[in-house]
Amino acid sequence: MNLIINNHVIDSDLYTILDKIRIETNNRYLGRIVNHGDNIAISCPFHKDGMERHPSCFVYALNDNDNVPFGFFRCFTCGSQGQLYELVAYCLGYGIEEAKEWLIDNFSKTLTDSVISLPEITLTKEKKTYLNEDILNEYAYFHPYMFQRGLTENIIKKFKVGWDPNLDTITFPVWDENSNLLGITRRNVKNKYFHIPESIGKPVYLLNFVKRENITEVIVCESQIDALYCWSLDMPAVALLGTGTKKQYDILKNSGIRIFHLALDGDLAGRHGILRFIENMPDNIFMDIMLIPDGKDINDLSYEEIQNLKRVDKRDYLQDININV
Ligand SMILES: [Zn+2]
Repeated sequence: MNLIINNHVIDSDLYTILDKIRIETNNRYLGRIVNHGDNIAISCPFHKDGMERHPSCFVYALNDNDNVPFGFFRCFTCGSQGQLYELVAYCLGYGIEEAKEWLIDNFSKTLTDSVISLPEITLTKEKKTYLNEDILNEYAYFHPYMFQRGLTENIIKKFKVGWDPNLDTITFPVWDENSNLLGITRRNVKNKYFHIPESIGKPVYLLNFVKRENITEVIVCESQIDALYCWSLDMPAVALLGTGTKKQYDILKNSGIRIFHLALDGDLAGRHGILRFIENMPDNIFMDIMLIPDGKDINDLSYEEIQNLKRVDKRDYLQDININV
């Protein structure tokens, strides 16, 4: 049985999904992942503090038992069980909605609209509240980590990147395209944990600056640090805070930007993100794909390496993908 979330089929390889959870927790959870074909055994995150030696939590891949959704898990030691997004939520410290978004962003290629017709699910939205910019004054400090990642002083000031001395986290304010402050994401300097508050949703990071400055050509990256780094190199950029959502494509279609240079991460999720981006944007928008090396993101590359990246037109990219599938 497929796992369908908000009309998206989660249809990536289950092992890859579990492995990304492991990576994002810095090996804190899912230290062991053993592929048995029909199912995958993982170190259960719910007992023994995630440290069990013999993996006894089973996650089900497709498809012989039609009552079990893709990614359903069940621990044979502690009895914990649930849906894949509950596992994601627990391991990554997300709320359920955020965990669902994470799965959609990273691991869905297919909209069910085109396969099965389901009524669009409209979630009742709470009225948005915005933060007062004054809160950013509390974090108006520089931290060496910012410079290690290649950000310049001007860019740190311009985009109000800060440091919270109490939590030892780098703070990144996130605005919507109309410059309303939606929230602050945080990266822990020591353990690199990254936290996005649920209230932020999925805006296009830094699009408010792009619009204000009438910029019509941008690099599109995944993470905030990627986008800030591009700006530091004098290359305007936006970040998707992930690999892209339908709502973000809609925002970008109406943004006035005419040229997109896609610089998503050099991994499977990034490549899926590129495909979705191409397929969800109108034909008349120019875009090319900057081929980021495997295992890298744009923030790992020097200015020269970025200049020398191979770039391919979207049609060539699609053709290459079809050959390689
Ligand atoms: Zn367990």
